[in-house]
Amino acid sequence: LPRDIFPDRINSKGVDLADPLVREPLMDRLDTLDTREWEAAPTITATSYGDKDAIHAPQNRDDVVGWVREATEADVELGISVALEVQDAWNAYGGNARAELLDKAADAFEDHMDEFLSLCRREAGKTVIDGVLEVREAVDFLRYYANEARRQFAGPIDLPGPTGEENRLTLAGRGIIGTITPWNFPLAIFIGTAAAALAAGNCVLAKPAGQTPLIAALAVDLCHSVGIPKEVLQLIPGDAKPGIALSSDPRIAGIAFTGSTQTAQAINRTLAAREGPIGIFIGETGGQNAMIVDSSALPEQVTRDVIASAFQSAGQRCSALRVLYLQDDIADEMLTMIRGAFEALNVGDPKHLETDVGPVIDETAKRSLDKHIAGKKRQGRNVYQKKLPRALRAGTFVAPTIVEIESIESLKRENFGPVLHVARFRADRLEQVIEDINGTGYGLTLGLHSRIDATRRLVESKARVGNLYVNRNQIGAVVESQPFGGEGMSGTGPKAGGPHYVSRFATERVVTIDT
Ligand code: GLU
Repeated sequence: LPRDIFPDRINSKGVDLADPLVREPLMDRLDTLDTREWEAAPTITATSYGDKDAIHAPQNRDDVVGWVREATEADVELGISVALEVQDAWNAYGGNARAELLDKAADAFEDHMDEFLSLCRREAGKTVIDGVLEVREAVDFLRYYANEARRQFAGPIDLPGPTGEENRLTLAGRGIIGTITPWNFPLAIFIGTAAAALAAGNCVLAKPAGQTPLIAALAVDLCHSVGIPKEVLQLIPGDAKPGIALSSDPRIAGIAFTGSTQTAQAINRTLAAREGPIGIFIGETGGQNAMIVDSSALPEQVTRDVIASAFQSAGQRCSALRVLYLQDDIADEMLTMIRGAFEALNVGDPKHLETDVGPVIDETAKRSLDKHIAGKKRQGRNVYQKKLPRALRAGTFVAPTIVEIESIESLKRENFGPVLHVARFRADRLEQVIEDINGTGYGLTLGLHSRIDATRRLVESKARVGNLYVNRNQIGAVVESQPFGGEGMSGTGPKAGGPHYVSRFATERVVTIDT
């Protein structure tokens, strides 16, 4: 269907932090919000009491951001039963009506920008700039999937047939979808996944990451406040247990998951082991993302893009650059420039606007990254590491690090944090480099800096990745412009923020009438 019959949609503008008249009052308002304590609890619950656990800020474990009451198995069980009762009505409500609600939710999110920014900062340790990008992406997902609901779910599509035969194709919701989403995009991926499933006519039981239930609770409350029924969109806070309860229940039509490859495989196995209907599984997982830089690249541009790709969001994006391949004849010069920019990075508390790199999410993440770096030092690798100021001891900070390695093959797993590995290659070995990258089994993002068309064409034709970025950084996929997602060990597709995403949550029904 043509897209121009829908309300014009442009991606949200967010907040102009460059304007002091916007920035300074905003920073004051965020400071005021810093003392608030937030709450998260299951939307539908079998018991009205239960233990509450504190959520601490990653940059300062003494800061209690709020309290969460985790969903029990009985809560999940009841939530599914309640959703089943309204599932048909939500599907029958129609694509246009569901789109209206998603658009209203987007407006409500924009109206609550301050609270979301405060929670991004305190609960997830995000810098203010990353917080703004996060809220924008959440709003863009809501409006984009609303238009997809209008485009694909407003009514049946007529199909051809011989004279005297009518054929009609209708998309319908599959049933109840469980979403299990990560702490690194605690708002955008949480609500984006739920919004797509809702747009397609499914009820959603949404389980945010154990580390970030509070921002998810605010998002769900706002969705309810604009009229999305509580039975239709339910918050299921908690860690692994409610996730397992969701994926093992045969009444769930499918799971949409973003997180580690190992967890994706475990969920997929759980789904497959159920009796009854065959569940769908959508998994968006990690990467061992590389960037290839040849001698035709522009050094200043490479420096800027490497720093952003590897260290923005403290490297906690699944798109982030992990292995930089530098052509050997420019490698020393490039490394000197990159290290210069690296030394200028500010590591600190995200409450300061000048902070470039904040904390990692928790102690477990910090321990695993520190262990990886220590291992590389023991192997005698060249390691450049920033010094962490003493004042950061109260939080889970990892010193941004650059490690020289031989090849991507020496890395056994994704290192989800501010650690950049650098390898060198000879120009005549470019194809081998691409093979090595493909050989990791991951296929999420790849960066290329080259002014040579033949090189670009070669990489484009050989690299098995979902998102290839040429002569720019490789993070921050924009809704609709860069549908995002990988292949192989990086995910099943479809791509978030792309034209095929919403329909994956739907089932197709064809009616044939002999007239
Ligand atoms: N879409 C994000 C980006 O392009 C990454 C999403 C993720 O980390 O899961 O940077």
